Amino acid sequence: MKKQDHIRQDVNNSKKNSYEIIFWIVIMAVCVVLFVLSRFMYKTGKYVQVRVDGKIVATYPLEVDGEYTIKGSNEGYNTLVIEDEQAYILEASCPDGLCIKQGRIHRRSQSIICLPNKVVVEITDDKGESDEQEDVDAVAK
Ligand SMILES: [Zn+2]
Repeated sequence: MKKQDHIRQDVNNSKKNSYEIIFWIVIMAVCVVLFVLSRFMYKTGKYVQVRVDGKIVATYPLEVDGEYTIKGSNEGYNTLVIEDEQAYILEASCPDGLCIKQGRIHRRSQSIICLPNKVVVEITDDKGESDEQEDVDAVAK
């Protein structure tokens, strides 16, 4: 009985249903493609680069767990933790605590910024100081 009802309904709405099915298949396909793309495009970085006042002060491998104290500007500090290939600020001297709230980062180009301490923690792919030479430096020379 139930099956019969179901079939009748299918016949009545067959056109509408098939459109709906196609719609959902397309949506799912788009989701899958986006997911796969994001995996490739935003791959996990290899290093955690720490800058204070624009200068690179330390670079840590993301695959090595550790806890580091970053000495920021104005005698401030940030405690950087690397854990499970993710980096985050555990503790900080800044009054706003925004850097702590920024959570964990692990993807290339993601960063945690602590404005009061002028600390920037960024995920990079290479250890080099490739982007250190900014325009300001070039002019200074
Ligand atoms: Zn902060």
